[in-house]
Amino acid sequence: MITLALSKGRIFDETLPLLAAAGIEVLEDPEKSRKLILPTNQPGVRVVLVRATDVPTYVEYGGADLGVTGKDTLIEHGGQGLYQPLDLQIAQCRMSVAVRADFDYASAVRQGSRLKVATKYTAIAREFFASKGVHVDLIKLYGSMELAPLTGLADAIVDLVSTGSTLKANHLVEVERIMDISSRLVVNQAALKLKQRAIQPLIDAFSKAIINPPVPT
Ligand code: AMP
Repeated sequence: MITLALSKGRIFDETLPLLAAAGIEVLEDPEKSRKLILPTNQPGVRVVLVRATDVPTYVEYGGADLGVTGKDTLIEHGGQGLYQPLDLQIAQCRMSVAVRADFDYASAVRQGSRLKVATKYTAIAREFFASKGVHVDLIKLYGSMELAPLTGLADAIVDLVSTGSTLKANHLVEVERIMDISSRLVVNQAALKLKQRAIQPLIDAFSKAIINPPVPT
């Protein structure tokens, strides 16, 4: 049995065409079913639904053989013990710094001010501001980061931005683009060895089905 860990929403929806390319069809709609283990048309393949931030953990400890997870989540997790064969180019967005429209971020950075930064992505934020030589107090949040600058909790946030409409609706502006984000296939290293005959064809089918594969550098 091969177990694939996915999170509901964008990653699940955008992984479906890749599974279809491998001849795999998920037999239940996670938006309609309360089941956490979903069967597929292939008796040897099942999908487990977990929180996005738990996908690397499930795969690392063998609760799932493979998973699909954002680069952001992987960096925050650390990626230990995970084989990362493919950038699937799905769930694309960017990790950015945003501030209130009336906050002069450029001056604050130039003057060497200490910034209060609220984020769910503390590893990415710490590394980014350290590389710029900006001193920050990081405030860990688990959601609704846009609220932090509006309430005075923080000067800036580090968050995922896709269309920019969430920032705009909250009168925030993007002042730095930290990195582009997309989702990756991650594989448990022991499973790759022990179940290679089942897993390798899946990796190959996903690889062929990627739309706009990254240009090798
Ligand atoms: P948008 O309004 O389109 O810029 O989307 C921004 C909101 O959606 C933020 O709350 C983000 O945390 C979330 N978001 C955007 N893209 C992704 C993604 N690929 N994965 C997870 N969350 C995302």
